[in-house]
Amino acid sequence: MIIRHPEKVNKSINPIKKKPSWIRSKLTNTQDYFLTKSIVNQYKLKTVCQEANCPNITECWSKRHATFLIMGDTCTRACAFCDIKTGKPKKLDSLEPLKISSAVKKLNLKHAVITSVDRDDLDDGGANHFYKVIIETKKNNPETTIEVLTPDFLRKGESYKKIIEAKPDVFNHNIETVPGLYRQVRPGSRYFSSLELLKNTKKIDKNIFTKSGLMLGLGENKNEVLQVMDDLRSAKVDFLTIGQYLQPSAKHHPLDRYYNPEEFEELGNIAKSKGFLLVSSSPLTRSSYHADEDFAKLQKNRINQVNAQSIS
Ligand code: SF4
Repeated sequence: MIIRHPEKVNKSINPIKKKPSWIRSKLTNTQDYFLTKSIVNQYKLKTVCQEANCPNITECWSKRHATFLIMGDTCTRACAFCDIKTGKPKKLDSLEPLKISSAVKKLNLKHAVITSVDRDDLDDGGANHFYKVIIETKKNNPETTIEVLTPDFLRKGESYKKIIEAKPDVFNHNIETVPGLYRQVRPGSRYFSSLELLKNTKKIDKNIFTKSGLMLGLGENKNEVLQVMDDLRSAKVDFLTIGQYLQPSAKHHPLDRYYNPEEFEELGNIAKSKGFLLVSSSPLTRSSYHADEDFAKLQKNRINQVNAQSIS
């Protein structure tokens, strides 16, 4: 039997807390759900929806919205919150850019979201592969907007710049949690490096929307959350997503608590008041949840902001 998380074998057991009534995924297995599934299978693609066991899968796939996971299904990091397999990844698939671009075409996507596992084993962290996937997808689908959700490219120099060169419409990198929990939750990452990545992306190309996501329930307190919001605004991040951490197994980071919908609303309102162009905050918010509709809102909000600035 292959162990999905060999690094967690000796971790203590943290029983999973019962989910509250508001954590319920919508069950909508429509024709489009099965179409999405068959296209994903046809091209032998990986999706974060399946690999991370996302609670929104039936809803998203029923709208043909899947988030493609490139560069394999095995991650070189071992984040304590994440259900993606950890281990030694396989060689990159040189046909993957074509497969993704063909799947995007078959699904007739207006907005495609592409993410990846961490590839610390590659000199460039996989930035060139991301570039090829974006370029090929754009070539085959000129009307489709592209959103990337990238690793942090820690210790990979300026390789991330190759992704910016491909001009994705949205550059997302999740900050995930407050700095005080990084050692336990994201031991292979550095809070300020993640912030720098977002800040530099905006500095290099101000037209790219930058986006980041935060999970709640890992043991953070409110002041720490508000500080992360301020840090992301200092990095000129446009769009913040805030969602509930769901503990994948008894060996993962223990869930501290479930936040209720009113708390998400309150934090969402605080974030909006801090100047983000868009905020999505709810228990089931994930960084790619409703990404297509949110992209349209981002564009509209930017136009409104520019108009307001020109009047004042
Ligand atoms: S929220 Fe994102 S990861 Fe989850 S099912 Fe939807 S597209 Fe996939």
